[in-house]
Amino acid sequence: MAEKTDLPILGEDKTKTYRLGIMGGTFDPIHNGHLVAAEQASDELNLDLVLFMPAGSPAFKQDRDVSSAKDRFAMTLLATADNPKFITSRAEIEREGITYTADTLQILRAFYPKNVELFFITGADALLEIAKWKDSEKIAEMVTFVGATRPGYDLDKIQVELEKSPIPFKVFYLEVPALAISSSELRTRQAEGKSLRYLTSDSVIGYINKHHLYRARKDTGFSSTFQAALNNPTIFSEDEQKGIEQIEKDAAKQLEKKPKRLAHSLEVGRVAEALAKQYGADTKEQFKARIAGILHDWEKAASVEELFKKAKTIGLENDPRLENIKLEDAKPLLHGFIAAHTLKQRYPNLTEDMLNAIALHTLGAKDMGFLEKIIFIADTIDPTRGPLPRLVLLRCLVGKVSLDELYFCCYRENIDYVIATNRYLLPQSLDIFNALVKKRSELDVSPSA
Ligand code: NAP
Repeated sequence: MAEKTDLPILGEDKTKTYRLGIMGGTFDPIHNGHLVAAEQASDELNLDLVLFMPAGSPAFKQDRDVSSAKDRFAMTLLATADNPKFITSRAEIEREGITYTADTLQILRAFYPKNVELFFITGADALLEIAKWKDSEKIAEMVTFVGATRPGYDLDKIQVELEKSPIPFKVFYLEVPALAISSSELRTRQAEGKSLRYLTSDSVIGYINKHHLYRARKDTGFSSTFQAALNNPTIFSEDEQKGIEQIEKDAAKQLEKKPKRLAHSLEVGRVAEALAKQYGADTKEQFKARIAGILHDWEKAASVEELFKKAKTIGLENDPRLENIKLEDAKPLLHGFIAAHTLKQRYPNLTEDMLNAIALHTLGAKDMGFLEKIIFIADTIDPTRGPLPRLVLLRCLVGKVSLDELYFCCYRENIDYVIATNRYLLPQSLDIFNALVKKRSELDVSPSA
């Protein structure tokens, strides 16, 4: 049974009658239409409180992809936080299995004294089917339904439907102009990169962006399993989670003049974490991948002059990984090596493999460790680089080929890119590529892969 602790107390004065609105919905995401509907219901029906109840696993959406209950709950909580009459409950998201309204109402009916009347507010379209809901007869005894509609909605449609049922549902209709907004419209707008401003609260928009919800999935090329892993990041310990948030904030400050680079860095962190998971790493390694991914372009805001200066100060020309490479030829590589040096001082907890992964993310190497390959690959296939056919093909390979093969294909892509854009190809890059080709032929991997 769901915990009752987050249900607000109501009905203490037995000489009075109280009215509790229950705002039932999937809220994927919650928007101003829902909020206006709840406020209007509260006004017109004289409700004492409105309890927002995001459905855990919506009964009629078992065949569809719905955002996680945790995200929908968090967004509902954020949207309702500033209205003292609105309370958001975890009751349905914490209950296992399919969410049936009848079960929720039974819990509420048992929790509240008889002098609390229950009003179940939802979209009129959802009411069309109430006769098919589990235990609809019991539901009809427990609540008055409030069907929120947009102006011009054909109420006869519902009446005809409800009259077919022998159950005497009590239904109150509420015309809510703001319901011209819909959750699906918000999802589409977000996927298309359009603004959600004034359609839902700023706090919800912030949450959607921070958690990368409703991003366009088509064209990235990732398999649905890998995309699902990307959309549902690993659950880290509280300390690790705080660590990630801090590093993201630091990166945001460091790259504040380069918003695209920042978006890329945050995404590389997420892709690296999901890749590490895909290729069998434990959560500790996934965490390291996430952090190294976020930090890999730390020095990208620096000018070439600044990079040369830093390179000289730290004696980069003596770094054995840059052996036989003249600093002026290594312009595109410097930021990785310098970042590793700067970050080692700034975050003494970064491990050697994280620093190496950051240093080598552009040049690569013949023999790369797990984390080094992960960051190199994540940087190459990051979806913020767009749906370029070459990258879509590489993303298709995630989970289908070994990590070594994926690294090889990404390395080849980087060389192709340097040639296609008429840039200087370091002989060392060619050496590394040739070494990878040899290694690969020893493993007898099909060259067409
Ligand atoms: P839905 O089919 O997604 O919603 C139908 C329409 O109603 C959509 O236009 C939706 O707009 C709107 N809507 C949904 N909730 C609303 C609200 N509280 N206020 C105003 N408009 C609302 O319906 P659903 O979200 O899955 O389900 C609605 C409620 O009915 C949930 O509490 C659910 O658990 C319950 N339900 C129970 C059963 C059952 O017990 N068997 C079966 C079905 C539904 P948006 O898309 O913009 O939200």
